[in-house]
Amino acid sequence: MGRDDKNKHTSDVSLHGSGVSAHVGRNLNKQGHERTLHIRGTGKILQGKNNENNGVTIHPSKNNQDARREDGFKLARKRRPVTVDTSKAKTSLEALKLSIKQLKWKEFPLGRRAACDIYWHGVSFHDNENVVSGQVNKFPGMIEMLRKINLSRAVRTMQELFPEEYDFYPRSWILPEECQQFSTQIRMVKENDATVNPTFIVKPDGGSQGDGIYLIRDPSDLKLMVGSQAKQAVVQEYIQRPLLIDKLKFDIRLYVLLKSLEPLEIYIAKEGLTRFCTEPYQEPCQKNLSHVFMHLTNYSLNVHSGNFVHSDSQSTGSKRTLSSVLYRLAAKGVDIKKVWSDIIALVIKTAIAVVPELRVYYQADIPPGKPGPTCFQILGFDILLMKNLKPVLLEVNSNPSMRIEHEQEVAPGVFEYVPSPVDEEVKVGVIRDTLRLMDPGSKKASISQLRAGGLEHGEEIPMEAETQERSPDEGALPSLCLKQVYPKYTKQFNYLRLVERIAAMFIRFLGVKGNMRLGPTAFRTFIRTCKLSNSNFSMASVDILYIDITRRWSGTMPDSREAGMGLQAFVEAFFYLAGRRFKSLALREQVVSLLELCEAQLESPSGVEERRSVSCSRAMPRAIKSQTLGLTNPQLNSPAPLRRAASQDYRLHQRLKPRTLRANVEN
Ligand code: ADP
Repeated sequence: MGRDDKNKHTSDVSLHGSGVSAHVGRNLNKQGHERTLHIRGTGKILQGKNNENNGVTIHPSKNNQDARREDGFKLARKRRPVTVDTSKAKTSLEALKLSIKQLKWKEFPLGRRAACDIYWHGVSFHDNENVVSGQVNKFPGMIEMLRKINLSRAVRTMQELFPEEYDFYPRSWILPEECQQFSTQIRMVKENDATVNPTFIVKPDGGSQGDGIYLIRDPSDLKLMVGSQAKQAVVQEYIQRPLLIDKLKFDIRLYVLLKSLEPLEIYIAKEGLTRFCTEPYQEPCQKNLSHVFMHLTNYSLNVHSGNFVHSDSQSTGSKRTLSSVLYRLAAKGVDIKKVWSDIIALVIKTAIAVVPELRVYYQADIPPGKPGPTCFQILGFDILLMKNLKPVLLEVNSNPSMRIEHEQEVAPGVFEYVPSPVDEEVKVGVIRDTLRLMDPGSKKASISQLRAGGLEHGEEIPMEAETQERSPDEGALPSLCLKQVYPKYTKQFNYLRLVERIAAMFIRFLGVKGNMRLGPTAFRTFIRTCKLSNSNFSMASVDILYIDITRRWSGTMPDSREAGMGLQAFVEAFFYLAGRRFKSLALREQVVSLLELCEAQLESPSGVEERRSVSCSRAMPRAIKSQTLGLTNPQLNSPAPLRRAASQDYRLHQRLKPRTLRANVEN
């Protein structure tokens, strides 16, 4: 559990730092239970009544039923405040309360028997089980997907297809499985050019706040444990020349709202935070490798340095607003529009890399036909600017801290949470505007109405947020701080969404509700439906392909329920099939060609018919069982798998269970 996660909910909710605390009392009466929220220090009492019509007053004097319904609806929209279950909000509670208050919505701090419109979870989609309607602020599978290894894998698949577009992510190797490859590749680089002296950063998978991170200059310095002790981690090229301000390294925390997966809708907060190191930066050398205050920008580390500067100003101190840093750079002549445009591109491309697997998680938890809930999520992108101003993605946090206080040493060794105006300014805006965008009552701009892709590929993206349609009671609120970037820039980025099309196909053949892995029969059905087998590639070869790839990906999976072919293994199989079929093309064209072929088959009447009969059987077909497991398929020695094998080893693919679900990572 993260440091931020210590405030458990009781019916007395302390609003740290604001000097107020809320006491929640419960009164049961015969009409239902009524809750009162006394906000201490303000004398205010908020009341809520849980009856069937949720406090909606239906106009009594109209006779015409339709008119009454319409009127009632209008009134409901006008009068019934949006309801938010905040019982699981954890450390985002205070910022959430302020946001709800600004919106004049209704908070349910202890949850509610009737359904709420919005459920605000502090950790994961599953914080509140049994939510069947409304909207939850977390997607299923997001924590797993954004762990360092999984993110690296997802980006790497995109790097294979689009190396230039995905050069914003430092070269990474997955430990322990790619340890040998890492050593060999670095040794070769050094042998080729003795002047090259790279540094690497080792980050434990699922770690946060800088925990367990260290820098190395030679693969032999990896702290590897063996056997079951082997720690999963990512070793990554260290960016040696970051942009400095006041001689200090800093990184950007950018808030991104994933509003919907399908259709893909992404918003970026115009305001973010920058976190500064507390020791002047020097390029890494053996002597300074362990200087965390010089190399790591994590707030949680630097706050404990004697040099950390708490400041109420947004443009000084160790934590500043993004805009203050951008203005400062602009004053020095930096083209900040270009920087911003590159950052937006980085965000959209990263989202495109992780969305395919998220769609698999989503359909498993909320299968089509299930009424709900729907999901949205605020993500925290950590971005470093290189000296040449190119943004680099360090990681994406599924639970960015929404705390609006910071730790301060009030006496030697005594830390207390005190209000942080910089955090409040940024985070309350992000939460409030996320809620505004998710308002179930607001007129939803249909996706078809939105200008999809106003710019040509390569054109710079403007900085200003669009004017957003406002609901009538939003008059007093500032304009939205969240800027829509997708589908707005569809035209620029849609060509990257190849893996998503593969995922859509994968999901179509999954068969059983709640499933995330393809059984051998379903894989065969996919091959047959898409007419991918022929005299050169028999169904027996298909079975061997299935076994071979699935075994490599799920080698260490003890859970039989999870047996089968996951999306990433399916993508590998798909790349292999594409390579066989379209040998003369480059990988990207191979994949596009195979996708077009498969999609055409699936749309054909026979394709539709065959899909209906997708078997749910997870049993291994007799033909496969009789094969000796572990037989290597000679046909796998084609260029595609060889290329993949040379660049990476995907042996360990598993649905990673969060070891520790860390709430609200500020870093
Ligand atoms: P954590 O989740 O533990 O915070 P991060 O990936 O965010 O892990 O890394 C922690 C810090 O290390 C970052 O905030 C950044 O300052 C530094 N860092 C991480 N990766 C790199 C890199 N590839 N190059 C340079 N600095 C890095």
